[in-house]
Amino acid sequence: MAGIKFATPAAKPDEYRNVFVFLETREDKLIKPALEMIGVGKKIADKVGEKLYCVLLGKDIKKEADEAASYGCDVILGAESPDLGTYRTLPYSRIISDFVKEEKPNIFLIPATRNGRDLASRIAVSCEAGVTADCTELDIEQDTRILSANRPTYGESMLAEILCKKHRPQMATARPGIFPVPEKVKSPKGEIRIKKANIDPSLLKKEVLEFRKKNTVDLTDSKVVVSGGMGLGKPEGFGILKELAGEIGGVVGSSRPAVDMGWITRDHQVGQTGQTVRPRLYIAAGISGKIQHIMGMKNSETILSINTDPGAEILKYSDYVINADLYEAIPALINSIREKKKSPAAAAKK
Ligand SMILES: Cc1cc2nc3c(=O)[nH]c(=O)nc-3n(C[C@H](O)[C@H](O)[C@H](O)COP(=O)(O)OP(=O)(O)OC[C@H]3O[C@@H](n4cnc5c(N)ncnc54)[C@H](O)[C@@H]3O)c2cc1C
Repeated sequence: MAGIKFATPAAKPDEYRNVFVFLETREDKLIKPALEMIGVGKKIADKVGEKLYCVLLGKDIKKEADEAASYGCDVILGAESPDLGTYRTLPYSRIISDFVKEEKPNIFLIPATRNGRDLASRIAVSCEAGVTADCTELDIEQDTRILSANRPTYGESMLAEILCKKHRPQMATARPGIFPVPEKVKSPKGEIRIKKANIDPSLLKKEVLEFRKKNTVDLTDSKVVVSGGMGLGKPEGFGILKELAGEIGGVVGSSRPAVDMGWITRDHQVGQTGQTVRPRLYIAAGISGKIQHIMGMKNSETILSINTDPGAEILKYSDYVINADLYEAIPALINSIREKKKSPAAAAKK
């Protein structure tokens, strides 16, 4: 932040209260990273006795607003218009910047999705704030109400704590998949304030004709991820991982070099420059455990690694280890799972 000069003097921090989170939607549904923002935003707001405001835009957002309230949001600030049905940079950033100027939040958290990154920078410029991007830890100092925004740096080898002491709101984007989705509250009390937005036509210069869905994998939603790395030795190696994943209801992930080699598409990549996952079971086959990969899967509930090297880094993060050639271990695993499915009693005797 040292080199940035703002046109206006520093804000008066005491005039800024409460925590804003942006609730991104896709196809009229709150996306998981939005729910993650509610969880961390609520934790921060509660710590300093302030309110959590959820900002929601769309064509018809009553259902999403109710859902946000069910997760414990105190105030849902919404704007509806047929032109807000899908994310568009100019109208979204204008409306939300106006909310910020009216309500003066102390903190504003936005998921670091593609849209979220785009939006955060626009709002920051409009409100003369800074943004700490891609945070993996967020907390607040109780006395000063300063946000402690932590993000990995130097190739994920260090964690930098970034403080914004002078300007408000204190803005951060948060990496999807890091913060847990909160539990729903028993009796939601959120106040829903939705207004009809009249969008200035100058903000609608681009006409959206059609959205085409890419056939990509969302690893973050699966309870089981079976990942392969360079230890597979060849692209065909992903075949047995798919077989194993199919048996246990999982999806296939990958380390980055396997993607770079063209063995599997980029949407399967786990890690710092891929997706962050926290499944119930993560299987790492032929993956050494370099920090850039670990960053993307270390919060998995159970980690099983399959590796020929008894000294591989991944072992330190694993709950279970199979120290063997994956081409022997995985077919054996698949066979035993199939046997168990055929006859649970016979498999139990073995
Ligand atoms: C800026 C930056 C960002 C990065 N982002 C990412 C990222 O998002 N995700 C990511 O994964 N990496 C990322 N990397 C790369 C990362 O540093 C490592 O190079 C990479 O994770 C290593 O991949 P790997 O474990 O598949 O390969 P290797 O490190 O080569 O490990 C292969 C492993 O397979 C084992 N093995 C070999 N044969 C077998 C066998 N037959 N059976 C069982 N085990 C076997 C070996 O013992 C070894 O442990 C990034 C790097 C940089 C610099």
